[in-house]
Amino acid sequence: MTAEAILANTRSLDAADTTRDPQALADRIIDCLVHRIGKDQRAAKPHDWLTAAVLTVRDDVIERWMTSTRATQASGAKRVYYLSLEFLIGRLLRDAIANLGRAEEFDAALKLLGVDLAMIEEIEPDAALGNGGLGRLAACFMESLASLNLPAYGYGIRYVNGMFRQRIDDGWQVELPETWLAHGNPWEFERRESAYIIGFGGEVVGTETGAVEWTPDEKIEAVAVDTPVVGWRGERVNTLRLWTARAFDPIRLDAFNAGDHAGALANQVRAETLVRVLYPADSSPAGHELRLRQEYFFSSASIQDIVRRHVQYGNDIRTLHEKAAIQLNDTHPAVSVAELMRLLVDHHGLGFDEAWDITRKTFGYTNHTLLPEALESWPLPLFERLLPRHMQIVYAINARLLKEARRAPGMDDRAISAISLIDEGGERRIRMANLAFAGSHSVNGVAALHTELMKQTVFADLHRLYPDRINNKTNGITPRRWLQQCNPGLTDLIREAIGDGFLDDASRLADLRPFTEDAAFQERFAAIKRANKAALSQHLREVMGVRLDPDALFDVQVKRIHEYKRQLLNIIETVALYDQIRNHPERDWVPRVKLFAGKAASSYHNAKLIIKLTNDVARKINADPAVHGLLSVAFAPNYNVSLAEKIMPAADLSEQISTAGMEASGTGNMKLALNGALTIGTLDGANIEIRDHVGAKDIVIFGLTADEVAAKRADGYRPSEVIEAHPDLNQAISAIETGVFSPGEPDRYRDLMAGLREHDWFMLAADFPSYAEGQREIDRRWTDPAGWRAATIRNVAGMGWFSSDRTIGEYAHDIWSVR
Ligand SMILES: *Cc1c(COP(=O)(O)O)cnc(C)c1O
Repeated sequence: MTAEAILANTRSLDAADTTRDPQALADRIIDCLVHRIGKDQRAAKPHDWLTAAVLTVRDDVIERWMTSTRATQASGAKRVYYLSLEFLIGRLLRDAIANLGRAEEFDAALKLLGVDLAMIEEIEPDAALGNGGLGRLAACFMESLASLNLPAYGYGIRYVNGMFRQRIDDGWQVELPETWLAHGNPWEFERRESAYIIGFGGEVVGTETGAVEWTPDEKIEAVAVDTPVVGWRGERVNTLRLWTARAFDPIRLDAFNAGDHAGALANQVRAETLVRVLYPADSSPAGHELRLRQEYFFSSASIQDIVRRHVQYGNDIRTLHEKAAIQLNDTHPAVSVAELMRLLVDHHGLGFDEAWDITRKTFGYTNHTLLPEALESWPLPLFERLLPRHMQIVYAINARLLKEARRAPGMDDRAISAISLIDEGGERRIRMANLAFAGSHSVNGVAALHTELMKQTVFADLHRLYPDRINNKTNGITPRRWLQQCNPGLTDLIREAIGDGFLDDASRLADLRPFTEDAAFQERFAAIKRANKAALSQHLREVMGVRLDPDALFDVQVKRIHEYKRQLLNIIETVALYDQIRNHPERDWVPRVKLFAGKAASSYHNAKLIIKLTNDVARKINADPAVHGLLSVAFAPNYNVSLAEKIMPAADLSEQISTAGMEASGTGNMKLALNGALTIGTLDGANIEIRDHVGAKDIVIFGLTADEVAAKRADGYRPSEVIEAHPDLNQAISAIETGVFSPGEPDRYRDLMAGLREHDWFMLAADFPSYAEGQREIDRRWTDPAGWRAATIRNVAGMGWFSSDRTIGEYAHDIWSVR
């Protein structure tokens, strides 16, 4: 078949939507309900209908899943393995039926049964096995890998309670366990036959043959739990393999019979603890032993599985790198480098040099942060106690690495100690980023600026030693979830205007450009945005009781709460604006809704205080008749993928206001621009590339550049001088610090504000004047509706490049050598 014929063939999937018989599908759903759930149609609860719908679509997915797996086996193609401690998956039903082109058919079939598809979709639990951007990236990548028809496995942990559920009580964040598995998980398959033993502790002895033997004193079993990942148009279904833990000997009968019931089950409890929760990423330092145990547990299980698959198909272990490309999503799986070395040397008898060569050709590493406090390192004594054999291997790798470094020109003692896998300053620690770098043939950053800064800062010396290793792969998002599924209205409008081509190739969104000034198209574009805003308002009214006016400008900042992301800058500007409206009610103010959402790490005091401040400010502003209809503020609880899917299509303005040089890429910025929001942002992360693709006149850029931030910090920045020079800023800070928004506890924000006046590490004050000016620029543009609409349409047209298909295409070509 020619490429065109294959494409035409897969296209017909979509057409099949209308030709398939909804009654036949309804019968299958009933069959599932009765025979697999054991429920009578009349007694079925919404959850039963959800499970029945999932099992029905799953049956079709399985066929394709097996075909995909068989085809890969038969061809002997190289596989991609994506190792990530986080997968922020979200709901899967819509994803599966939409990618199979069967959404309309399911809708019609369920209608015949008196069931509303949208209602059962809404009760599907949101699989939140990640903190934020890094985990969502892994989920987008899995979808794109399948959509590009690349054989790939994702590997991670099946957390019983993933990310916490956030409730807001009296303005404060409260963390509750997320019980996403409470009703079972119809998407997953436990593979009891795919189980591996994971050892901890114990001792290492040399044998007579010169080999080395590690005898762990604790063993836990890792058991695979597989979830199918359906690609666009359902051509390929890949596997997300998450590990769960089981005790090697779950019950000690002797202890049980002797009456020590709890003690008898201690091993099982210990094993289950390992997969209980996801550690909050930014509660630095994560110095918990349990976290290191989690990292090794999932790394070891995954590497054992990869090696087993390779050898089982009759391949020579020496060709592993020809059949397997392993990508490390940040340093959390970095111990995999030592684990593969251990298997190659201790189990397969390879020499150290040969094993090292294979290891480096197999791994690639993606860096996600330059923040020194977020760079992972483990105290050497802890690492050695838990993983004694890996400690030896790390020493051996380090000896090699440092020998190479010493031979290279221009490496002084400072450079050598920066390259070392072991941080000797103070308590000795293992640097996981250096281990990942040394053990990989490719090290990539996630946006152009971030990659440049990697070369200049964290990896400056390693980069001098290996100048070809660092490369850039700017992040992307899957347009299936982040346009087609979350914004069907806009998707239909685009199809009508430019045809279906953009569904298979997002760069075709550029074909929208001729429509930017078209008045009729603009009208419809605006009507869709208005409808999305009304739907979000309705949702937020139900969940939190606020009323947001869909005709106001929806100004949104939704992401993890972190000082570098500068929600505080937004809030202070909101307070300043509030002041101005009160002082000048006669002016023509643009009605604005300020919407915030995001979780704070449970141990991150200032981030939690910023949530409380947002809610305190919201309470006062929303109750003040002087600004009624002009300004309102809302903090939407429990930001997750499902909530993001409601917010992105409804936003007018996207706040991407991190201190330049601190946001590696951002992907929320991409989702919002793709759905027709204008960005106000700093020259940070992928904002720079968004500007390049949508055009500098259709984005509002403000503030210091990364270079200027660095220079200012080096110069001795004095925020108090800046604050005193800007009365509106000074007044806003004073109001907050003197308790205007917290009359019951006037000192609540005193320390937070003192931090701004004294050091202001994130340079809020320095950027405030240009940020406020940028916001007034937004107001001016909003008052020209035709100009605003044209600008937002140009944003949509320019965002195709940020499809994760483009990103994965680059990884496949440049790093993994798969096609
Ligand atoms: C996209 C996404 C993120 C990442 O947002 P940033 O603005 O890039 O930090 C975090 N959480 C969820 C639920 C997301 O969908």
